[in-house]
Amino acid sequence: MPAITRVVAPNPGPYTGPGTNTWIVDAGPVSVVIDPGPDDESHLAALNQRLAGKTVGVVLVTHSHPDHLPLAERFAAPHHASVRRHPELRDGDVVRAGNLSLTALHTPGHSADHLCFLLPGDGAVFTGDLILGQGSSMVTYPEGDVAAYLRSLERLAALRPRILFPGHWDPVREAMAKIEEYRRHRLEREAQVLAAVRKGPGTPAELTRRVYGELEEKLMVAAEMTLRAHLRKLVDDGLVRERGEVYEPVGTVGA
Ligand SMILES: [Zn+2]
Repeated sequence: MPAITRVVAPNPGPYTGPGTNTWIVDAGPVSVVIDPGPDDESHLAALNQRLAGKTVGVVLVTHSHPDHLPLAERFAAPHHASVRRHPELRDGDVVRAGNLSLTALHTPGHSADHLCFLLPGDGAVFTGDLILGQGSSMVTYPEGDVAAYLRSLERLAALRPRILFPGHWDPVREAMAKIEEYRRHRLEREAQVLAAVRKGPGTPAELTRRVYGELEEKLMVAAEMTLRAHLRKLVDDGLVRERGEVYEPVGTVGA
């Protein structure tokens, strides 16, 4: 396993935990940097300080969200390093830098353009926001896609990784258990949403209250966007029907 160091960006928050993880991977003569993070002066200085004069071979970005991408070009330019992300990088593409090869895995769900990066010989995966070190990943309407997210988790599990380096919080050494925990969490949430619809037709706002109870306004908005993402999958699966703003169960009425 190459030496992997982390520099945490100064953007802590409810969705970013202690901040975004920027990973620096030692590739021999050069370094590979994954997710430079937000466009922040002090983070840029911290990254260059940690590199201690070493050249950056390539900058990889897991997805285009504002806590992962914005610093990329500004950070890469003085190193004459290229920034690589979806869709220029496609599923299965291999990125070579120094003595390392990393394989890009297209893992949509959290965002449509989400990539993970695999170090094949080491069973190590940089998971971005597909899997976090703590809590659960946001899969929210309209960008999030629950069905794609579940497929991406299965894809990751099929690789049987040994260690995950997430976009937020600490590395995960119990990789397979964590992937299973995430899969179960998502399926439990889906079951809750389906149960709420089966209690009777409702708008997304009404169904959100049925699932989550009363929440403060900001949390309620996030909860509703999560619920809407689940509703879309349930509609696609033929378990729920959309009638204007109202969602109703399919198949179990009167059963
Ligand atoms: Zn993030």
